[in-house]
Amino acid sequence: MGKPKAEVDVSNCLACGGCISVCPNDAISMCAGKAFVDKDKCISCAICIRTCPVGAIRGEDY
Ligand code: SF4
Ligand code: SF4
Repeated sequence: MGKPKAEVDVSNCLACGGCISVCPNDAISMCAGKAFVDKDKCISCAICIRTCPVGAIRGEDY
């Protein structure tokens, strides 16, 4: 068990790109018009979760 990884609720994502610009490990990209987290790259810093204006990102365990 590693730390919880970020996960995007695509039904809420507005594709604003905010999470992509703040991720320190380039783990987020735009995929079919929605943000997508590469869990192999996510270091569980939670910055994207605090940044998303609509609360579309959650950690798997928080
Ligand atoms: S939790 Fe941190 S490393 Fe993981 S996707 Fe969000 S900003 Fe990137
Ligand atoms: S910050 Fe939130 S709304 Fe904006 S692209 Fe990322 S997940 Fe989507």
